[in-house]
Amino acid sequence: MSVGAGFLDQVNRSFDRAAAFTPHDPALLANIKTSKNLFYTSFPIKRDDGRIEVMHAWRAEHSHHKLPCKGGIRYAETVDAEEVQALAALMTYKCALVDVPFGGAKGGIRLRPKTYSPAELERITRRYVFELVRKNFMGPGLDVPAPDVGTGPREMAWIADTYTQLRPGELDALGCVTAKPVSAGGIRGRVEATGRGVFFGTRELCGVAEDMKALGLTPGIEGKRVVIQGLGNVGYFAAKFFQEAGAVLVGLAESEGAIANPKGLDLEKVMAHRRERGTLLDAPGATNLARREDALELECDMLIPAALERQITAENAARVKAKIVVEAANGPTTNEADEILSRRNIMVVPDAYINAGGVTVSYFEWVKNLGHVRFGRLQKRFEQGAYSRLLQAVESVTGRQFSPDEIERVTKGASEEDLVNSGLEETMIGAYHPIRREWKERRGQVDLRTAAMIVAIDKVALSYEQLGIFP
Ligand code: NAD
Repeated sequence: MSVGAGFLDQVNRSFDRAAAFTPHDPALLANIKTSKNLFYTSFPIKRDDGRIEVMHAWRAEHSHHKLPCKGGIRYAETVDAEEVQALAALMTYKCALVDVPFGGAKGGIRLRPKTYSPAELERITRRYVFELVRKNFMGPGLDVPAPDVGTGPREMAWIADTYTQLRPGELDALGCVTAKPVSAGGIRGRVEATGRGVFFGTRELCGVAEDMKALGLTPGIEGKRVVIQGLGNVGYFAAKFFQEAGAVLVGLAESEGAIANPKGLDLEKVMAHRRERGTLLDAPGATNLARREDALELECDMLIPAALERQITAENAARVKAKIVVEAANGPTTNEADEILSRRNIMVVPDAYINAGGVTVSYFEWVKNLGHVRFGRLQKRFEQGAYSRLLQAVESVTGRQFSPDEIERVTKGASEEDLVNSGLEETMIGAYHPIRREWKERRGQVDLRTAAMIVAIDKVALSYEQLGIFP
């Protein structure tokens, strides 16, 4: 069985487990579960040395109950039809959990990005977009990609440029893809969004004293010992926000190996070392672990897998020492591992909720692109004036003069980044409590993942029920 097939089965089994707790018609549940469209293409590209190579690429649209569809594009050797379908399904449930009005999608090209030059990657990306557009698998109202493993703002800019070339005069063309660089129509705060969302969500659940007590932990992030696997876009920013909030990074893992220090690693020093030497290993103050997977078994309070799917398995789950597993990556825990962790009273915070910060801010970017105006542009100065007048009134009533620092802090109008981060924080906090409620109401019967899936299924089911069936 391919990794992708195992992953799709894993997502579908989570769905089935949750679906059994819902009152919905089995036919409706089958409709929700099934992927709606699957696009496969192969195309030739010219390597820099003149050789021709055939690429294999996919796009899965899991649900059309809300449009456009939304989901990242992955460049990795593991990409296949099942992997994109699994990830697309997760996107449907994720968008539902954070009330982002999109259906789920995911795409990918089977390749190892490090073995291609930037010019080759650009040709591959542009040709992929061309194929998607030709088959109506892309567009601001149809299907809107974003980054995933192996892609980032650079690829998103190429995608936006190719799409706008193919659709001259389309007013909303920039809304065809998100996580673009700001200068290419992106939004401030998107690069950090998934990691920041992981932090906001974890801080919220760690704030519930009763739940922390049940795990033998104290509330709050400060002092929590954290291990992070994968220091790419999601893992790096998650690590940064946890460290800034006072968590102790006791272990870090990357593809080349893993390091540990029970007293804490300095993230920026480790990253500087990796940039210089090309490896995490031998970072100052760190002990190298024998195998990179050993990081998953370190003594810690919180384990944050932020690399790839199927990392915590039946083989290693019994040795995980964390009290909380925070699924920053998509699908890092297999169903068998889930059962083992659950039996051991380890809280698993599901991917569909905890890594939804990226799609949340992508939604803000899409809204910005359709609105053709930067958030904050209209009200920032107005807010500044209103707060200044209020402060002056307080000064005149109390006779107290505020310092320039105090005035600056209080009268600051909201910038685009302030608004994005505030919207993200509100979303992650707001989305946690319905999941927790479901979990608590079915105490002992469901874990957090099943609770989240029940909440997501209910929302998607309501949409389908209200929309009816065409024809
Ligand atoms: P990325 O490519 O930026 O980072 C992944 C990192 O993991 C890389 O640095 C890679 O070297 C490392 N890695 C790979 N295999 C590893 C291993 N066995 N052990 C340790 N490290 C390993 O990708 P990303 O965008 O950060 O995505 C990471 C995960 O988060 C994926 O599961 C992705 O689907 C999910 N995700 C990403 C976003 C987003 O906005 N980028 C949003 C939601 C979920």
